[in-house]
Amino acid sequence: MKVLKFGGTSVGSAQRMKEVCKLITEDGQQKVVVLSAMSGTTNTLVEISDYLYKKNPEGAYNVINQLERKYMQHIEELYSTDEMREKTAQFLKEEFAYLRSMTKTLFTSFEEKVILAQGEIISTNMVVNYLQEQGINAILLSALDMIRTDKNAEPDLAYIRERSKAQLEANPNYDIYITQGFICRNAYGEIDNLQRGGSDYTACLIGAAIGAEEIQIWTDIDGMHNNDPRVVEGTEPVRQLYFEEAAELAYFGAKILHPTCIQPAKFASVPVRLLNTMDPQAPGTIINNQMHRGTIKAVAAKDNIICIGIQSSRMLLAHGFLRKVFEIFETYKTSIDMIATSEVGVSVTIDNRSHLASIIDELKKYGTVTVDEDMCIICVVGDLTSQNVGFETQAMDALRQIPVRMVSYGGSEHNISFVVAKNDKQRTLQALQKTLFTYNDHVRRPS
Ligand code: ADP
Ligand code: ASP
Ligand code: MG
Repeated sequence: MKVLKFGGTSVGSAQRMKEVCKLITEDGQQKVVVLSAMSGTTNTLVEISDYLYKKNPEGAYNVINQLERKYMQHIEELYSTDEMREKTAQFLKEEFAYLRSMTKTLFTSFEEKVILAQGEIISTNMVVNYLQEQGINAILLSALDMIRTDKNAEPDLAYIRERSKAQLEANPNYDIYITQGFICRNAYGEIDNLQRGGSDYTACLIGAAIGAEEIQIWTDIDGMHNNDPRVVEGTEPVRQLYFEEAAELAYFGAKILHPTCIQPAKFASVPVRLLNTMDPQAPGTIINNQMHRGTIKAVAAKDNIICIGIQSSRMLLAHGFLRKVFEIFETYKTSIDMIATSEVGVSVTIDNRSHLASIIDELKKYGTVTVDEDMCIICVVGDLTSQNVGFETQAMDALRQIPVRMVSYGGSEHNISFVVAKNDKQRTLQALQKTLFTYNDHVRRPS
């Protein structure tokens, strides 16, 4: 069985929903389909929550009313029978009444997560009703019964495996199983989510849990490009990526994939294919177990990075120093992305600033601390094993005009990373594009 995920743009209008339904039914094969909220909806739900945090129910009401009008319009276009239109209109009325009821209660992060979950709950109900109207044997399985996180807010893999299989086994005679991306329950049974962009993660978790033949992530672009198409012109699709390469690109900012969604697929060895809903015949990108030597595949950038340096003239890197530094980050549950060390100091990067002030306070016990905010990590991904002579120098060479704050090479066989100021991000990505992917006699052509 395959697991297919369709993102916000792919289900962004009544017309798009119809196209998705055509795509998932034309081969007649049984499949699990994970859907995001219609594009823009989760942002609107965040806006509603913002008003409620700010104790402005009027502001929230206005946005809720606008959103309801939009959805009522969508269902006019989506259904051809009055029966299904009325059934779905009734469902939407209850949904929006529920959202309005939130304006009357105490508003905490618990209510916020309930509000954020409604986008996927609505889109999946709309699509299942449409499939049923078309005579397709489809069923909606609630992600809230299958996806759970543990006390560390990590997916509870054993639970997900057991529940996904149980849900499919309990409903054996359906052609299409629809479920919500992004939403889950947490260790306390409350409604929660897998962070923004989390529908990719849902698809990979379910695909790994049921040992799917393939996980397909359908979006609005022809696969993973060799650089960020929002920042650099002339980027091109990469046709194949090794799991580890895709995981690093996702983690280091390639928005096409949720930062950690490749891990479960990699561990279960389930290939992931990235496909374009707007151009279903395009080949896209396949992510699998094959590592092709001798190529650089792509570049990505991760924003909102803080770079912290700890320097001292004493022999700080003596026995025990690094442990003390790392313990401080561990105490504040702040993970480190990159590290560079020298005889007199160490620099690290973090992207979570919630405990920044306390971390800096504690680090000051061990040396002079410097903090550079508004930085970004630029990550070059491909065959970067030490035996593959020359690729790291090509990447370095591209940055000859750019102030580089940190470099990390050798931590994995698949990347070399640089920290540069946010203001230099675009020209860094452009320079790398030109040097690594604009072909000339000196550069080996990536496949
Ligand atoms: P969805 O709503 O389907 O999940 P996203 O907006 O999350 O879609 O992801 C697709 C977008 O990711 C693309 O439209 C593109 O702008 C952006 N993107 C950023 N980096 C890359 C990359 N390296 N390759 C392809 N797309 C990328
Ligand atoms: N709807 C959620 C978001 O906008 C999840 C997703 O689309 O993957 O972040
Ligand atoms: Mg996404």
